[in-house]
Amino acid sequence: MLKKLKELDSTAQTSITKINTIQELNDFKVKILGRKGEITALLRGLKSLSPEQRAEVGKVANEIKDRLEEQINSRASEINQRDLELRLEKERIDVTLPGLPINSGGIHPLTRIQREITSIFTGMGFTVAEGPEIELDYYNFEALNVPQHHPARDMQDSFYITEEVLLRTHTSPVQVRTMEKMAPQIPVKIIVPGKVYRKDDDATHSPMFHQVEGLLIDEKITFADLKGTLMLFAKKIFGDQVSVRYRPSFFPFTEPSVEIDISCVMCGGEGCRVCSHTGWLEILGAGMVHPNVLKAGGYDPEKVTGFAFGMGIERIAMLKYGINDLRLFFDNDKRFLIQF
Ligand SMILES: [Zn+2]
Repeated sequence: MLKKLKELDSTAQTSITKINTIQELNDFKVKILGRKGEITALLRGLKSLSPEQRAEVGKVANEIKDRLEEQINSRASEINQRDLELRLEKERIDVTLPGLPINSGGIHPLTRIQREITSIFTGMGFTVAEGPEIELDYYNFEALNVPQHHPARDMQDSFYITEEVLLRTHTSPVQVRTMEKMAPQIPVKIIVPGKVYRKDDDATHSPMFHQVEGLLIDEKITFADLKGTLMLFAKKIFGDQVSVRYRPSFFPFTEPSVEIDISCVMCGGEGCRVCSHTGWLEILGAGMVHPNVLKAGGYDPEKVTGFAFGMGIERIAMLKYGINDLRLFFDNDKRFLIQF
């Protein structure tokens, strides 16, 4: 039995040095040293030996087991070390290779224009104010001098949630909300960018679009302040070459009210399809704040005056970039968006 043990030992030793993977090594360990392994099988014959022989064989068997186990462990660490080196070699990073391009996103043209408009006005001392997109009828209409029967409240135009609550149809409710917070402090000098919502089934409109609203209230504010501010704005955003004109208009929340046009950015005022051959493009509405609106905001129209204006960000972006279809802004077509 001793002879058989020693044979098994020497065969095993040779095999271990030839094993190349951890998996094979584990299998081998089970096969030789395991509870159902070859050594255990061999030792079943111990019963037939005398006590002295039994002791001797048992001792040798244990020595062999210990040594083989040690050898298997040391082979295992050799294999692990070799695998690690191979992997490091394979995953080596060549820092001298050129980098892969980073596919970064860009800023949406509407966001870009909104930021540009906002920064022109903050440069003139306006601060940014915001308000809720789900608005009370009171702030959206009533406080802005739009009475019950006014066509702007038509159920056809507005997204009503209840009779009292709707998606705001313009950014103007923020005017009143801000005045309520600040009254009677002056000056109020805010710019209000944001999303607004109107029902419109025609393809040149979108049910959601963006506006920028502005409001200035102080002592002795006149129509000349309105003209100076908005002329500067028009030239900053469209270039010094544009001329500006004011046409009388009507809004319930301003009196007097004007529409502001710039000379056509496409034809320079000669007349083309974009300006319907008039040479002029409408860019925004404005006016002196109506005394009723000042009162609703908590200001005394005998002591302060102010002007307000509002414009569509989509319209400004279309004119500035020469875009002819509003829907392009909302299609998420990268070929379009990547150009800005
Ligand atoms: Zn034109």
